[in-house]
Amino acid sequence: MLAEGDLCDHCLGRAFAHLGRGLRNVQRGRALRTVLNMEGHVFVENEQSCRVCEGIFAQVQQWATRALTAVEGIEFRTYLMGTRVTPAIESAELALKEKYELQGEPFKQEFNREVGRLFGILLAERGHPVVVDFLDPEIVLLMDIEKSELSLRINPLFIYGRYKKFVRTIPQTKWPCRRCRGRGCPECNFTGKTYQESVEELISPPLLRETRGTATAFHGAGREDIDALMLGTGRPFVIEIKEPKVRTLDLEKLQKEINESAAGKVEVSELQFVKGSVVERLKNIEAEKVYEAKVRFAEPITSEQLQEVLGRLHGTMIEQRTPTRVVHRRADLVRTRRVLEISGELLNPTEALITVRCEGGLYIKELVSGDGGRTRPSVSELLGIPAEVTELNVLEVRGDFLQNPSPTPSPTRRGESPFPLREGG
Ligand SMILES: [Zn+2]
Ligand SMILES: [Zn+2]
Repeated sequence: MLAEGDLCDHCLGRAFAHLGRGLRNVQRGRALRTVLNMEGHVFVENEQSCRVCEGIFAQVQQWATRALTAVEGIEFRTYLMGTRVTPAIESAELALKEKYELQGEPFKQEFNREVGRLFGILLAERGHPVVVDFLDPEIVLLMDIEKSELSLRINPLFIYGRYKKFVRTIPQTKWPCRRCRGRGCPECNFTGKTYQESVEELISPPLLRETRGTATAFHGAGREDIDALMLGTGRPFVIEIKEPKVRTLDLEKLQKEINESAAGKVEVSELQFVKGSVVERLKNIEAEKVYEAKVRFAEPITSEQLQEVLGRLHGTMIEQRTPTRVVHRRADLVRTRRVLEISGELLNPTEALITVRCEGGLYIKELVSGDGGRTRPSVSELLGIPAEVTELNVLEVRGDFLQNPSPTPSPTRRGESPFPLREGG
């Protein structure tokens, strides 16, 4: 191999990466060269004329220094190096491997490791120890060798919590004006928004400020109607902060700040750092819910009538076609969801308070009204009297959203039903 053309110690050692433990490729290459030398073959290393890398390993220090400059002012503990290799290096390496039937190690891998090693040493010297994380790094440094460009990607920070909502006038997320699409027009009083506040806008700003990120995204475990309250243990959510420069936050203090500034409207609890995969879980788990609904009947009914209807709905599978009020933005299809528990009592002959525990995805307003026959069976259909929800509160969103549940018991206590509380009025 060496007689056919120059190879640097890195590229020579890398071709025999399976030999010797705990050695860097450069040490391995040097050892092989020394052995050959003792057998009388003298191959002096000339880095710059290496036929695979063309002496690129001489730039390790330079790349590490550039990386150090790129991360200045950014807090991180885990990172990943990446290399975009030139076609010339790639084909030279492939040719060598094929000709000599070598296993070796890919060039990229060694280059990433060598730059990363020095980068880590330089950071540790400055009192900032970091580690490589192949699966979920906080930052990614990509070296484009051909363009001689180093780019930095700062991965998002994810903060989980639960929110309660105490007013019937705010949506969960930002709601741009439909007419002007956020630009501002007379209809929205030039605010660009249909609703001036949202749960998202009451929670996100302090988190964005403290992390010095560029933007936030709000991910909820479903959402309640604007006019529904979110009570009980609250609804799980994750705030994703894009390109955060700071990752160490006093979440307890921030929680307090949010709760003070949003007092009377929104309250958050359980703020904690989570992995990005929790967002997927929030989106995919159809969490069991507990609702409380105030219902009005078009005609007076008796307590016996109400109990009879609730008895028939208890444990029943409901066939629900996408409600008329949301069909303009959701696919029109029939879903089946079970009412797991239902109970209630009359407040007066035309009003009742009902508590429902059901599978995720069941629309409660339509379970009561029947939505013109699109939801069956319904309270209205079984009574033979029009009925509607006048107030809706979500009491619980159940589900194991955190993959690594904290050792402290979750406030969503499974098996502890709110129903016994309602018994006997
Ligand atoms: Zn080389
Ligand atoms: Zn507008």
